[in-house]
Amino acid sequence: MWAIEKEISEYTFLVRNEYTGERYTVEVAREHRSLYDDNGVFTDLPEACPFFRKGRDNDLWYCTVHLTRPDVCREYGCWRFLILDSQGKRAGRVMGTRHLHAEDPVLQKIWDEKVRCLKEPDDVLWDEKMCEIIRSEGFIVQD
Ligand code: SF4
Repeated sequence: MWAIEKEISEYTFLVRNEYTGERYTVEVAREHRSLYDDNGVFTDLPEACPFFRKGRDNDLWYCTVHLTRPDVCREYGCWRFLILDSQGKRAGRVMGTRHLHAEDPVLQKIWDEKVRCLKEPDDVLWDEKMCEIIRSEGFIVQD
């Protein structure tokens, strides 16, 4: 959803929301700069937000610009995929690698019955299959 439009200084960026066109200035927090410098996350998650990183010694995910993150991130939290129902109402978010935070019980049921059992070890292929299943059920998936 966020694209870096301009590097203002070493850890400060102008970013643009690819859906709404809104722009924000964000700064990588000092405590996350070494984590930010490691781009390994994009090997498995090429579409991830430019500021999303996995902890080195744990399974936690970090927003490396958390102190200056855009308002929409403050409001909704971080996600890799935003899922909307056919009317455009928010139905859920895919967080981390494979976790769904659902607000729509129908979406939760589809996830439990059809997505949770996916045996795909490759994260990129898993993303593709998950999106295909969710879209085939009439939902809109945005990354
Ligand atoms: S909260 Fe998530 S989507 Fe928003 S800037 Fe941080 S890592 Fe990116």
